[in-house]
Amino acid sequence: MLILVLNSGSSSIKYQVRDIAGRNDDGVSRNDDGVSGDDGRNDDGGILTEGLIDRIGGSDPGPDAVADHAEALDRIDAAVSAVLGGRELDAVGHRVVHGGERFSEPVLINNEITRAIERLNPLAPLHNPANVLGIRAIAAKWPTLPQVAVFDTAFHRTLPEHAWRYAVPDELYSRYGIRRYGFHGTSVGYVSVRAARLLKIQPENFNAVIAHLGNGASVTAVHAGKSIDTSMGFTPLEGLVMGTRSGDIDPSILIFLLRQGLDADGLDELLNRKSGLAGLAGDNDMRSVVEAADGGAEAAQTALSIASYRLAKYIGGYHVAVGGARAVVFTAGIGENSWRFRALVADRLTALGISLDEAANRAHSKQARVISTPDSAIAVLVVPTDEERAIAEATAAVVSPG
Ligand code: ADP
Repeated sequence: MLILVLNSGSSSIKYQVRDIAGRNDDGVSRNDDGVSGDDGRNDDGGILTEGLIDRIGGSDPGPDAVADHAEALDRIDAAVSAVLGGRELDAVGHRVVHGGERFSEPVLINNEITRAIERLNPLAPLHNPANVLGIRAIAAKWPTLPQVAVFDTAFHRTLPEHAWRYAVPDELYSRYGIRRYGFHGTSVGYVSVRAARLLKIQPENFNAVIAHLGNGASVTAVHAGKSIDTSMGFTPLEGLVMGTRSGDIDPSILIFLLRQGLDADGLDELLNRKSGLAGLAGDNDMRSVVEAADGGAEAAQTALSIASYRLAKYIGGYHVAVGGARAVVFTAGIGENSWRFRALVADRLTALGISLDEAANRAHSKQARVISTPDSAIAVLVVPTDEERAIAEATAAVVSPG
């Protein structure tokens, strides 16, 4: 099936076209062996084309100006048609950031679903409105093309109440929906299944701690294949030290700063854009921070220690939460590529009996792989994520089940 995967932002749309193989009798898609290369195939997940249309609705007119999402879609249509050579798209899969409490899995979009996504705008004011723009633009252009919403929060709908509830008066939850939702769910669900298969464990029996470490970073406790806790909460700000976000912080600091005269926008900017690695080391990019640390910059060394310590604390806690993890899994930009950061985290986990195979940890590879020693009490894995592929597969499954 040909699936157009869209990630719509307010001023940009990222797109990919995937050719997703059909499903066999187990309901497992045929090009999905969990571990590419396992049987000698190097599986690229069927990417036919991809691209980014940005500066949508920008103020500078010119030949590259894109007025709105509808015009962006015309450009995507032109680029995609050129590649498909007469074949037609079967469906569109949208990355939707917030599915609130309603959506626990991918859904076929209709008007009612679109309005439900829109009603969640207050919970994701930067993202859901843009996702809805993308959905409406497709519906206007191709009214009969099936559209599927794949939610970043959905994988975490299995969190038990003791994990999702904050210790605040119930009114905050009942009136404003203030609770922990978690994000990165599409990636974590995808990586969890692949990690389990690599270890020859049934995904539904898999207990693990999965660290998705990109610009945004979160860690998830997976028990019996389901998310039972995750470090991002009401918004993606909670939890780990990230590229530009503080992660966990004493909320009294916000009260203190409000009293010092900072307003809501100022706090938002401070904690979401100026903190994390950027705030500590002056750079949000892990490569630069590692380089600076190697060059002797103390602030960068401190940033790495704080970030690795925070993650190690979560891993220890989630090991307990899942009743003993079989694996600690690293994924996304930093998790897949920064052997230095992985080593810093693993060094803090020796009390769990974890030991890294140093050569395996340092080796460059795009494959899912084990990087711990055979006698490590918990396996440590690197499993590349692929959110677009996960969205395409989920979309294909919704559109033609079984
Ligand atoms: P996003 O959340 O934007 O999708 P990514 O998953 O692409 O982010 O991760 C971005 C992070 O990955 C950056 O901090 C970047 O420095 C880091 N990264 C990417 N490649 C490497 C590498 N080879 N070594 C170390 N860090 C890397």
